[in-house]
Amino acid sequence: MKNQNGYVDSFRRLIQCPTISDSGHEYFEAFHKTLQEEFPHAFAACEKISLGRDVLLLKWKGKASDRPVVLMAHQDVVPAEGGDWECDPFSATVIGDKIYGRGTIDCKNTLFCTIQAVDELIESGFTPEQDIYLSYSDCEENSGPGAEMARDWFKEHGVRPNVVIDEGGAIIKKAEKYMAKDAAMVGILEKGYADVRIIARGKGGHSSQPPKNTPLARLGAFVNYVEKHSVFKPKMSAPAKAMVLGLADVLKPGLKGLAKLAGHMGCLTAYLAPRLNVHYGAPMFKSTVVFTMCDGATAPNVIPQEAWVNANVRVSPVDSVEKCVAKLAKIAKKFDCEVQLGNHREASPMADLTGDGYTQFAAAIKKTYPDVEVVPYYMFGGTDCRTMQEIATTAIRCTPCRLSIEQLGGMHAANENIDVSSLGETVSFFKNFLESYK
Ligand SMILES: [Zn+2]
Repeated sequence: MKNQNGYVDSFRRLIQCPTISDSGHEYFEAFHKTLQEEFPHAFAACEKISLGRDVLLLKWKGKASDRPVVLMAHQDVVPAEGGDWECDPFSATVIGDKIYGRGTIDCKNTLFCTIQAVDELIESGFTPEQDIYLSYSDCEENSGPGAEMARDWFKEHGVRPNVVIDEGGAIIKKAEKYMAKDAAMVGILEKGYADVRIIARGKGGHSSQPPKNTPLARLGAFVNYVEKHSVFKPKMSAPAKAMVLGLADVLKPGLKGLAKLAGHMGCLTAYLAPRLNVHYGAPMFKSTVVFTMCDGATAPNVIPQEAWVNANVRVSPVDSVEKCVAKLAKIAKKFDCEVQLGNHREASPMADLTGDGYTQFAAAIKKTYPDVEVVPYYMFGGTDCRTMQEIATTAIRCTPCRLSIEQLGGMHAANENIDVSSLGETVSFFKNFLESYK
């Protein structure tokens, strides 16, 4: 069995494989070879299910198959160009008590800790009560089909997972000023998503004789209007309330009462929070919109006949894609613009906090980390988990790995890093979960 140093060496080897999304099959092939060397027991005992691409799906046969567990992660990472890296992002350099590198927290830590836990349990002769699957997509970061390929296999084979666990929340180390304890942020749902193209048309023409109200001017006015006004109304939702009340349990005594009150004063909290804090308050209590792409004429001296901007909308569970698009369309009309709905999906269903999937997950956190409080976490971004959620009873988005707020800032950024000590803790968590899962 590996000790702490063994974990570090093994984890570093995974980081040293530059599995950037769509970088090429050879990189993923080399990664798979490394996995087989590092986790020989898992690969010997599990059935390897071929799905195509470089997607990895491993099945560890349990005593029963009616309530299986799927542990998800992704093999691919985002590029690491630019930024102020202190070391080569694929060297997995250890500096002090931290390992630096692309993928250390998004999310080769999840992949390492899940397969390491399985490898150790197999080595010790343990047989799980239920079938356990390890499902690792090769293309999560660019919204590729990996997770769908795995979901389709489950569907075709009539396997209905009872619990699916994927990346998402983490254990946030306490900010001394506000928090009395570390908080395990357990993702219970994710917001919906919609790309809405706002299109303005005109007659075009030569830029030397410009008319008024050209397409880009109307789009500019529209964008300004939407940014200045609160287009989507704030509302308290069940996951936001669960999170605020959960956070109350980790805050220092003075703030605890305030958070409890905020959780129970639905409308007022939802109204005030986005005004007090745009970064967290707005996404937690309302649907949000931001403009991300645009295009106009094909040459600098041409007035466009058509120009567009993309509005990226994150849909609150108390709104719907349809409602949000209708709202934007109404405003767009005032500026003589049209809307066109692109990629979209509704918010995912919320995990049942009293269901056995969530409670068993929370119990394993308590067992592994007695000092940590479990907090339901309302996720603003998206994960592969939503794909598997379609066929699962409970979907949980969390890797219980201790990270500071500063470390979370390294996700998709320079100097992504993880604490050496967190690897062993998270492996223990997954072992505890799998050993006690019924
Ligand atoms: Zn990720």
